[in-house]
Amino acid sequence: MINLILFGPPGSGKGTQAAKIVEKYELLHISTGDLFRYEMGNNTPLGLQAKSYMDKGELVPDEVTVGMLRNKVEANPYVEGYIFDGFPRTVPQADALDNLLAEEGNEVHLLLMLDVPDEELVKRLLGRAKVSGRTDDMDESIIRNRIEVYKNETTPVFDYYAEKGKAAKVYGVGSIEEIFNRLCEQISQL
Ligand code: AMP
Repeated sequence: MINLILFGPPGSGKGTQAAKIVEKYELLHISTGDLFRYEMGNNTPLGLQAKSYMDKGELVPDEVTVGMLRNKVEANPYVEGYIFDGFPRTVPQADALDNLLAEEGNEVHLLLMLDVPDEELVKRLLGRAKVSGRTDDMDESIIRNRIEVYKNETTPVFDYYAEKGKAAKVYGVGSIEEIFNRLCEQISQL
């Protein structure tokens, strides 16, 4: 089993690269952002709760996010491994993930961080808004808030795994194939 975390600021290419990694390594892709958008699309109580945070570019509270993640993992026990995308975003979420996997004698093997300069992120997200229809990509002030939230609340998760020798940084600018090859090079060292 290989369990990976694809990590990086909004717009760093996590979704695009996760799709390619899933294809190559046959992992189950779990994106908490996608799960929240699915719930929102179905107007579930969870979706309505998440919406108020997502619209502002704030993080959904840990208990809500961890509960949803746990359900998804527990519903899919017979997989070759997981690739977590957009999760964990706080140190308590990282703790919760480690505990959840440890219950099955499992662990996170590697966190891969996509490193992309801020101005490139803003440019990419404003471009994505035109095709994705994501309201949180349309407004530059919300995008900048999401980048700030990432820096303040989420980057400590990189250090959390780096201290365990389980984190690698990959330069996230270039062609999709080039970046994918950089990620595969790291995964091949496992
Ligand atoms: P994403 O699709 O990963 O960019 O996530 C979109 C939005 O969903 C974020 O701005 C948060 O409001 C919410 N979200 C997604 N994943 C998490 C998480 N792990 N913890 C808290 N909020 C999250």
